[in-house]
Amino acid sequence: MSCPTCRKKQTFERIADLPYFPFCSKRCQLIDLGKWANEEYRFSTHLGRDREEEASDEKSEPKSTDEGED
Ligand SMILES: [Zn+2]
Repeated sequence: MSCPTCRKKQTFERIADLPYFPFCSKRCQLIDLGKWANEEYRFSTHLGRDREEEASDEKSEPKSTDEGED
């Protein structure tokens, strides 16, 4: 299994060891979500942007203070 975003090989014994499966890290997960959000936006600009909220709601993690990593 390799990360869909950065293609890095991931080794693990259980899926549970990868909290961001199939991504190797939160960063890669966010990159991928952003990618999809952009596509979505591009293909449905006239259909509304409600789906953006759905995407960000998918992982209900508590917001931490590392927001400046953009
Ligand atoms: Zn990755």
